[in-house]
Amino acid sequence: MKKDIHPNTHKIQVICSCGNSFETLSTVKGEELKVEACLKCHPFYTGEKRLLKTSSVDKFYARQKKADELKK
Ligand SMILES: [Zn+2]
Repeated sequence: MKKDIHPNTHKIQVICSCGNSFETLSTVKGEELKVEACLKCHPFYTGEKRLLKTSSVDKFYARQKKADELKK
């Protein structure tokens, strides 16, 4: 294995616009990294999850409704 083939990573403090901050390993120079969305406020983890939940609940009710209609 060649040495120095991996980029230098170091601990960096990530500060999000939502106020959340966490430490991560990064190759970015400096001590801080400002981001607009982190795993706590990114739509993928908030909005989309909620939408997914809503749609699965809707599907459940739609299925139930269909089952009720079949019983009649
Ligand atoms: Zn955030």
